[in-house]
Amino acid sequence: MTWVDLRDRYGITQLVFDEDRTSSKLIEQARSLGREFVVQIKGEVIERASKNPNIPTGNIEVLVEEVLVLNTSKTPPFTIENETDGGEDIRMKYRYLDIRRNPVKDSLIFRSKVSMEVRKYLSNEGFIEVETPYLIKSTPEGARDFVVPSRMNEGQFYALPQSPQTFKQLLMVGGLDKYFQIVKCFRDEDLRADRQPEFTQIDCEMAFVEQEDILNAFEGLTKHLLKEIKGIDITDFPRMTFDEAMKRYGNDKPDIRFGMEFSELNDVAQHKDFNVFNSAELVVGIAVPGGNSYTRKEIDKLTDWVKRPQVGALGMVYCRCNEDGSFKSSVDKFYDQDDLAKWAEITDAKAGDLICVLSGDKNKVRAQLSALRMELAERLGLRNPNEFAPLWVIDFPLLELDEETGHYHAMHHPFTSPKPGQLELLDSDPAAVRANAYDLVLNGNEIGGGSIRIHDASTQAIMFKHLGFTQEEAKAQFGFLMDAFQYGAPPHGGIAFGLDRLVAILGGQETIRDFIAFPKNNSGRDVMIDAPAPIDNEQLKELNLKLDLPS
Ligand code: ASP
Repeated sequence: MTWVDLRDRYGITQLVFDEDRTSSKLIEQARSLGREFVVQIKGEVIERASKNPNIPTGNIEVLVEEVLVLNTSKTPPFTIENETDGGEDIRMKYRYLDIRRNPVKDSLIFRSKVSMEVRKYLSNEGFIEVETPYLIKSTPEGARDFVVPSRMNEGQFYALPQSPQTFKQLLMVGGLDKYFQIVKCFRDEDLRADRQPEFTQIDCEMAFVEQEDILNAFEGLTKHLLKEIKGIDITDFPRMTFDEAMKRYGNDKPDIRFGMEFSELNDVAQHKDFNVFNSAELVVGIAVPGGNSYTRKEIDKLTDWVKRPQVGALGMVYCRCNEDGSFKSSVDKFYDQDDLAKWAEITDAKAGDLICVLSGDKNKVRAQLSALRMELAERLGLRNPNEFAPLWVIDFPLLELDEETGHYHAMHHPFTSPKPGQLELLDSDPAAVRANAYDLVLNGNEIGGGSIRIHDASTQAIMFKHLGFTQEEAKAQFGFLMDAFQYGAPPHGGIAFGLDRLVAILGGQETIRDFIAFPKNNSGRDVMIDAPAPIDNEQLKELNLKLDLPS
């Protein structure tokens, strides 16, 4: 007997060549087949003698009558199996072979299913899919543009869209009312782990809406996806203001599947001769469930973890909550049992828990404790990929201070409208202005973000002024939008979802790369086609470009 595994998109089917039933020539042919050969088979589907319950086709096999080799194959550089022996680099170089493996193939099929459900839901809700151009002028979403030189317009460049933001707003002025598009966006950012320079958004816009309408519409989409893709009915769709999220979780995209909420300890921890706390803007702690079981060494390691440059804390104070109701802290010199009991009360720590406390500049310390909270949740197994907890974070600040330049820039983008009546605050207290801007958070990831837009030219002009544009600059860059606003622009707003990340989270995976057919690596390179690459002098000349490279 000779067996051959035949693989296609649907799985593996066993072929059998039986000495009693098949000719010796055919058996010889079967033995000459190599890995990854492409074959056409004729034969009879029969019941398998030894069944394999682990695969869908495990009950049958094909008794082969005819084999036609459509193509041969070199031995692939890694095994095409679920658990391959190929490292990341080699698999990326031969991505077309990697796609033959079930985990990658299934991820792409999964992505297609999610996209289909998005289209189905939005079309049913009356959204129209419109394609917007890729060769455009800069749309600021806070990153650098990728640019494309124009051969026909010497010295001029297109920018690839960081998002279709201005176009979708113009579609609202055009009266299309409800728009969506599954669309590529391009952002030339310093690459962080698991970011792609080109990525896909589910981009949406609606006219004649208020924030409430948008939240309801896209709550609907999220529920639809969780139901159709994961079979989960979401009943709870909480909302939280940005300020509350920062206070309770130190983060504007909190994972609310578990507790360990922040408790501010300034009132009980300051003015007790402990200068580290006394000089801090914020003293804040969390109660780690069961954390008192950590050894001294483990706690020291945790302290080292928060002191790593990526987190940046100067140190960590801890307090053990013993089973007998007593406390043991790393700052017993300054705090007695009554003081520590207050810490436990405020942080809601139970016997057997560990209170971790960080202190310092408010914004920094919140970010640090938030990192620690997520790390501990990971270690404690509290981030269950099969549990889904969406959350709207609303009322974002309109502006954000750039610490380096001392200038304010738009936290979402310059087209976001301030909350009604807050425009006047822009002069006196810019940081206090809140926007009609919202993010959709799922399991600690920002999966969507949007806003109600400015729809009148004068407000938009005030916004540009506050963002440091001169009138001429604003006109040169966004004159078309300001013009459009003068022709009866309806109130409008929208949102965009990051499709790659959404698919990854729904698929229960961390990396978006697994759900992109041909992703780029961490340096923004496509190692399969070897891009980016130099272009030859002819092409440079045609584009009127001269390269001034250091020799
Ligand atoms: N254009 C925005 C973004 O890419 C989304 C929106 O405001 O609708 O984040």
